[in-house]
Amino acid sequence: MTSNVAHLPFPALRDAQIHPPMSESDAQFEANRCLYCADAPCMQACPTHIDIPEFIKKIGSGNLTGAAKTILKSNFLGGTCARVCPVEELCEGACVLNKTERPISIGRLQRHATDHLASKGVQPFEPGEPTQKKVLVVGSGPAGLSAAAHLAQLGHEVEIWERKELAGGLSTYGIITLREPIEVAQHEVEMVKALGVKVHTNTELRDSNHLRELAEQYDAVFIGTGLGGVPQLEIPGGEKIVDGLEFISEFKTNPEFALEPQRVAIIGAGNTAIDAATTARQMGAQATVVYRRTPAEMTAFDAEYEFATNFGIEFQFLANPAEVVTDDKGNVTGLRCTRMKTVEAGADGRAGVQPSGEEDIIIPCDLVLSAIGQVKYDDETGFGLNLERGYFATSDFASSGPLSNVFAGGDAIRTRGDASTVMAVQDGKLAAEQIHQYLEGK
Ligand SMILES: Cc1cc2nc3c(=O)[nH]c(=O)nc-3n(C[C@H](O)[C@H](O)[C@H](O)COP(=O)(O)OP(=O)(O)OC[C@H]3O[C@@H](n4cnc5c(N)ncnc54)[C@H](O)[C@@H]3O)c2cc1C
Ligand code: SF4
Repeated sequence: MTSNVAHLPFPALRDAQIHPPMSESDAQFEANRCLYCADAPCMQACPTHIDIPEFIKKIGSGNLTGAAKTILKSNFLGGTCARVCPVEELCEGACVLNKTERPISIGRLQRHATDHLASKGVQPFEPGEPTQKKVLVVGSGPAGLSAAAHLAQLGHEVEIWERKELAGGLSTYGIITLREPIEVAQHEVEMVKALGVKVHTNTELRDSNHLRELAEQYDAVFIGTGLGGVPQLEIPGGEKIVDGLEFISEFKTNPEFALEPQRVAIIGAGNTAIDAATTARQMGAQATVVYRRTPAEMTAFDAEYEFATNFGIEFQFLANPAEVVTDDKGNVTGLRCTRMKTVEAGADGRAGVQPSGEEDIIIPCDLVLSAIGQVKYDDETGFGLNLERGYFATSDFASSGPLSNVFAGGDAIRTRGDASTVMAVQDGKLAAEQIHQYLEGK
């Protein structure tokens, strides 16, 4: 599976985009291919149920502002989702034109409309009639921003608390620049602020006592704190491994980021692993993703795997990291891996793996990144809320503990299914409706 890929030039790739913008004539052509289906399957497949035929029709008639408003009414983070959604699995995958020709490029059309609105500086919506109710939103990722935007339109006074320096959650710190430049996420934060929402960054919800106090001070609290960093890997030399998420985040947000790796090994097989490997490639390094199972068990989307191989990322499957190898000065020189083989599938239907007995391999590298998922919550970190398998336990977004005015959504409650931006946005919207009902005493 390995090949000799020449180092890619860093500056050319830093500003590249996976889905480049459309020209007006391309957008018109694409919009006019749409059949404007009744009961449009694309719309059903969108977790936020954007009225896709309606916004495409508006693009076709030259009403780009109207198209953007149609999108943002259902999905306040439509600009982000146009770039990061796995459209092949969602709207475009469901488009009826798949049966006869290529599907409509819904994601790129959505970007065309939302970019237009952003370039005009138009604020799509107004705050609602004041209700005198105060809501605190903790976390400014897609779930928190979406909840805040909808609550403000319902007339509630909303504050967001964000522990980091910049708002936007993983859209700002996690998703690679090739997919979403930081400016897009920051523009969405500004749109939320324009609805009167106060965003306090470098401000953290600390613990269960703090949450109890806040639940008394505010009429309702929404927790959209996502998940934590990448868990530590307990192998010899493991202390040399760098958190893949931190690596992406530093590259995105720190202009003084000083690492200049030549060859990077990335442990994991999900979207974070692909994104960390892509970032390494953007820096001009060779990147090898190391996974102990086979391609069939990877959690990264198919389109991302295909993108990664086209981007020159190499893969070592059936290789289980066993030791970070260093030279006598302590510099990383390789990742030693045990060769694995597949064995019969277990109850979950996933093929098992066990050591094959072959000789270990050493993947030469000067940097090892870990991208094996994100840390969940426990009794110490879970703000005193009831947990289900490390996520906040909720029923219709209401937390299941004694604090009846505390709600939660986004990755922090995603006990089942793939975590994605669009799911977090939909959680925020639905949770805002539940909070509104609660505040209205219904
Ligand atoms: C590397 C990577 C790439 C991804 N790529 C994609 C993609 O291409 N497409 C896609 O759809 N999805 C992608 N995802 C998933 C997507 O980013 C998440 O599902 C989404 O961001 C979840 O939104 P959220 O608001 O629940 O949480 P987050 O985006 O994680 O936001 C949570 C926010 O809460 C803040 N916070 C946490 N604790 C506290 C506290 N105690 N006090 C105050 N603030 C706090 C955090 O700093 C953060 O800003 C990716 C994820 C990763 C890690
Ligand atoms: S399914 Fe395809 S053709 Fe039909 S409305 Fe949606 S985008 Fe248009």
